[in-house]
Amino acid sequence: MFKKILIANRGEIALRVIRTCREMGIKTVAVYSTADADSLHVRFADEAVCIGPAASRDSYLKIPRILAAAEITNAEAIHPGYGFLAENAEFSRICEEHNIKFIGPSPDMISAMGDKSTAKDNMIKFGVPVVPGSDGTISDVKEAEAIAKDIGFPVIVKATAGGGGRGMRIVHEAADFKRQFESARSEAGNAFGNPEVYVEKYIQEPRHVEIQILGDRHGYITHLGERDCSLQRRHQKVLEESPSPIVNAELREKMGQAAIRAAETVQYEGAGTVEFLVDKDLNFYFMEMNTRIQVEHPVTEEVTNADLIKNQLEVAAGLPLKRSEFKMRGHAIECRINAEDPEKNFRPSAGKITTFHMPGGHSVRVDTHAYSGYVVPPTYDSMIAKLIVSAPNRMECIARMKRALNEFVIEGIKTTIPYHLQLMETPEFIEGKFTTHFLEKSFKFNPNI
Ligand code: ADP
Repeated sequence: MFKKILIANRGEIALRVIRTCREMGIKTVAVYSTADADSLHVRFADEAVCIGPAASRDSYLKIPRILAAAEITNAEAIHPGYGFLAENAEFSRICEEHNIKFIGPSPDMISAMGDKSTAKDNMIKFGVPVVPGSDGTISDVKEAEAIAKDIGFPVIVKATAGGGGRGMRIVHEAADFKRQFESARSEAGNAFGNPEVYVEKYIQEPRHVEIQILGDRHGYITHLGERDCSLQRRHQKVLEESPSPIVNAELREKMGQAAIRAAETVQYEGAGTVEFLVDKDLNFYFMEMNTRIQVEHPVTEEVTNADLIKNQLEVAAGLPLKRSEFKMRGHAIECRINAEDPEKNFRPSAGKITTFHMPGGHSVRVDTHAYSGYVVPPTYDSMIAKLIVSAPNRMECIARMKRALNEFVIEGIKTTIPYHLQLMETPEFIEGKFTTHFLEKSFKFNPNI
C-alpha cells in the first residue's frame, strides 16, 4: 500500500479521501488555492502545498504545479477526486510518465470513454443496449436528417466530446433539424474544439439510473447495485438514492451485468459509474461511463457497507478485489446542500457562514468541508455539504432525512435546505414516481411552506 498520497482536489471530496487515508495509515498531502487557505482539507491533511491563486485554471487545473507539489513532498500517488483533472487522460498520462500512480484508470481507458460516439460503438460490439441512432458521428446535415426521420422524432443531437450538458440539442420536428444540427456542431466546436456530433432517439420522460462498478488489475470487474439520480435541475443532480424505486432484483442484475460488459470494453480498472436512461417500459440504454468517483458515491456505501475510496486505493496499489457478492441492505438518500438561494432561481450565495450546526443521530452522515466561520468562496462549485441518511426502508429513510434537514442549521448564507424539505413532502417523490424532468417541469418551490 502507498505510504503517502497527494489529493488533487478541494472541498468535501478532498476531506473524504483524507479520512479513509487516515484509517489506512496513509499520509496525505493537500493542495490548495489561496482562496482555500482556510478550508478543512488543508487542516486535516498531514502536509499542504499552495498551488496558486483562486481561479481553477491557475491552481487545481495547473498540472505542472500539482506534479511539483507531489515531487517535493514525495507523494507516490495522486487521487484526483471528481471534477477538475479527474477525467483528464493527459493528466493520467503525465502522472504515469513521472512514476506517480494516478488513482484511477489508465489514459487509454479515460480517452475511450471520453469520446462518446466511440464509447457507444464499443458498447454495441459488447452487447450493451444503447439508444438507437446514427452509426458513429456524422457531419453531413442531409444524411443526418435522413437518419433522424428514420429513427423518428424527437431526436437528440449530441457532441461526441460533450460534457456538462453542452453541445446537445433536442429536435422535435424535421423542419427544425438543420438549424439545431448546425447549432450543436458550432457549440461543440467552440466548447470542446471538436464539432463532431451524432444523432440518437430522444427518450421521453426517462429515469436516470446508474450502476457503480469496480475493476481490479487482475481482470475482475464487479458491480455494487444502482443509484437513482433522476432528480436533476439543469442536468445537475439534486438528490440521489439507492436502491432505485423502479429497480427490482431482476432488473438490477440485468443492468449490473450490462454495466460490467460496458467496463469490460476497456478492461476497466478502478471505480467507475455506468449511466443508463430507463424508459417507462423499463428498457434501459447506455448513456455514458464516468471514469472516476462520483459525488453521490456515499449512497452506495451506505447500502453496501463498502468504502469506495479504500477500494480505489487498493486497486491502484495492485491488490485484488474481494471476490464476494455484494449485498444491498436498506435504503439511503443523499441531498446535495448548495450555497444557493432557491427563492431567487438558485442564485449562488457565497459569503461567511456565521452558524453551522450539523444534524446527527442514528444513521446520519454529513460530508462537508464547511464549518462555523467558513467563508464560501464565489469561485467554485456551490455544493457545500452532502447530507446522507440511511434506514431499513425508503419510507423510514424519507422520515429520517426530513428530521435531519430540520436539524441542519446554516446561517449567514442561503442554502437549498428548504427546497429539499419541501421535496420530502411532495407526493410524487414519496411515491417514487418521477423522471428527469420532474423538478424543472412539475415541482414549484414555495418558500412559505
Ligand atoms: P453530459 O456528459 O454532457 O452530461 P450526457 O450524455 O450524460 O451528457 O447527457 C446529459 C443528460 O441529457 C442526461 O442526463 C439526460 O437527462 C439527457 N439525455 C442525453 N441523451 C438523451 C436521450 N437520448 N434521450 C433523452 N435524454 C437524453
